[in-house]
Amino acid sequence: REAHVAAGGVSPHQPFTIIVTLRDLTEQRRSEKMRADFVANASHELRTPLASLLGFIETLQGPARNDPDARERFLTIMRAQANRMSRLIDDLLSLSRIELKAHVRPRALVDLSALAGGVTDALGPLAKERGVELRLAVDPEPVLVHGDRDELIRVAENLTENAIKYGQSGGKVDVSVRRGGGDAALLVVRDYGPGVAPEHLPRLTERFYRVDVAESRDKGGTGLGLALVKHIVQRHGGRLLIDSVPGQGASFTVALARAEDEPHDASELPLKQAG
Ligand code: ADP
Repeated sequence: REAHVAAGGVSPHQPFTIIVTLRDLTEQRRSEKMRADFVANASHELRTPLASLLGFIETLQGPARNDPDARERFLTIMRAQANRMSRLIDDLLSLSRIELKAHVRPRALVDLSALAGGVTDALGPLAKERGVELRLAVDPEPVLVHGDRDELIRVAENLTENAIKYGQSGGKVDVSVRRGGGDAALLVVRDYGPGVAPEHLPRLTERFYRVDVAESRDKGGTGLGLALVKHIVQRHGGRLLIDSVPGQGASFTVALARAEDEPHDASELPLKQAG
């Protein structure tokens, strides 16, 4: 088809036209391949817990039919597998919803400091359960950005949850919000765990990419958390920076443009300021 296009029209602009066409096709094929890979990965991720569920159902209907102990044990595992499928489907839907909105810039006024406070409060119990001290350091003034509140909560939650889960051995996780240089608003989540080896860093935000698949599954991961974070940050016109010194921990920085400290959408502000 490409040769046909090349032979089609004779004009002084033809070589330029051909190059553009070829590049478009390459881009199109690349995105088709990415979509096909994604569907294959998602199906595989869903099929694994499903196969395990089917196996347990068979056992419960057969050999373990009259064994109450086995029944209890198997049902507990089955519940965990079903929960995993449910988390995976939730993340897949969130990812596709965010992709659909990728070109629309969210505009509500959000205070990152208050948001980070809410997220660390919500994740306090998980940190405690894992023996991690979760520390929050925020600018005393509101750090305002234009954005989608729920999506930004998701970003802070995913990064903090990862820091607690993967950086558990470091004993501490720091979440901070501050004004950066220029008009930047920075949300930084830092842990002191094993960190990430340099060869994995560039791929960490790919869908389903995990440094250690078994560890991620064990910790309830879906492999989509950082992909979601990246897409949300991009939709907000911001940047996600990942730094790590293996053995000393990892830090994830979300850099967004700070909003002017006026006109407010009152519904997005803390109550004391809205009133
Ligand atoms: P998952 O659901 O597996 O946690 P993510 O997309 O959130 O998926 O993260 C991808 C992978 O990045 C994780 O499986 C883990 O290997 C690695 N990772 C994420 N956060 C950290 C961290 N704070 N320290 C070390 N490794 C991390």
